[in-house]
Amino acid sequence: MEALILIRYGEIALKGKNRGYFEKALFNNLKNALRDFEARVIRKHGRFFVHGPALEEEKMIERLSKVFGVVSVSSVQRVPLELEAIEKAALKITESKGGTGPSFKVEARRANKGFPLTSPEINRVIGAAILKKNPHLQVNLHHPSFKIFIEIGPREAFLYHEQTAGPGGLPVGVTGRALLLLSGGIDSPVAGWMALKRGLSLEAIHYHSYPYTSMRSREKVLDLCRQLAVSGIRLPLHLVSVTGIQKEIRDCCPPELGIILLRRMMLRLAEEISRRRRLQALVTGESLGQVASQTLESMAVISKATPILILRPLLGMDKHEIVTRAEQIDTYGISIRPYEDCCTLFIPRHPATKPKLNRVIEAETALDIENLVATALDTAETLLIP
Ligand code: ATP
Ligand code: MG
Repeated sequence: MEALILIRYGEIALKGKNRGYFEKALFNNLKNALRDFEARVIRKHGRFFVHGPALEEEKMIERLSKVFGVVSVSSVQRVPLELEAIEKAALKITESKGGTGPSFKVEARRANKGFPLTSPEINRVIGAAILKKNPHLQVNLHHPSFKIFIEIGPREAFLYHEQTAGPGGLPVGVTGRALLLLSGGIDSPVAGWMALKRGLSLEAIHYHSYPYTSMRSREKVLDLCRQLAVSGIRLPLHLVSVTGIQKEIRDCCPPELGIILLRRMMLRLAEEISRRRRLQALVTGESLGQVASQTLESMAVISKATPILILRPLLGMDKHEIVTRAEQIDTYGISIRPYEDCCTLFIPRHPATKPKLNRVIEAETALDIENLVATALDTAETLLIP
């Protein structure tokens, strides 16, 4: 038996000239999301349909509902173009929604004008049949607890109900390529998810100080990447050791500027990776006011280390909103595992909250920046996730 799944997308349908390009990207992303299923994706009337093995329908729906650009996913029943068959299928759907009452609405659409009943007539007839069998239910046209959609096609009728919500947004890849600065914390994976949702394809970079930070920290970052890639995308992950840089900063620079200097080095490393990999922007999990390095003054001084565009998708979010999102996208459980943060190694945790750029630049004259960047990147490791 074959399952039929309907995938609806929203925003991209509105984007005029780009429509074809966006649909093509979504099509490819849907195919990638289903690459380990024996499924076919086809496009029809501004929507996508998936034909696949009935036994794996639930798993496929779960996977598809994570693909960016998807608004909703429904399992579809196909029946012959006969009122009786349509009614039977509608009753079956109602039964499966049994406990969820108390109200419903039938929404018919007649693409095939040869069908003898108009859409409002179909709504009335099928609605009446449902009421007759289920006297405890009511019709509610404005706020029904469930809807049954009926589409009258040229050769068959399609019925569906359950709307598993997708993330919405834009298909990954359509707006450009960026580099996510991924720590082991709660924020940066959420920032990555939000960047993906805006159609950016991502690579990730993680700074560590192995062996001072453990393999457990590394495993954690890998797991975060795997979780970000659940929608079928692939995510190259660059692992870069900053131990040498941290030691230089510790030995040669004022301690209260340590964190700022390290952050500026992180940006330079990210800039160089972006240049090599042709990535157009950086994405960080920074928000405003959370910690000393996230005051406006610090951010200004840190970001002046590089001309590359820095995106901060979490800027407008409260911590609790970030946590809620992290739970929803299943990164929270990974992020709260204990790990050693490379930033706290060797460098005191009481940074200047209002650093002066000229002092920072002066402190940096003690560092051989070019050489430090080159050395760190020479030993970098790149993994492709998953
Ligand atoms: P997170 O929860 O993402 O760790 P945070 O609230 O702890 O963020 P900071 O420690 O100030 O904030 O880090 C700000 C941002 O800098 C992070 O969101 C991340 O984008 C980047 N960053 C910090 N540490 C690392 C690291 N070790 N590797 C890669 N990026 C990092
Ligand atoms: Mg952190």
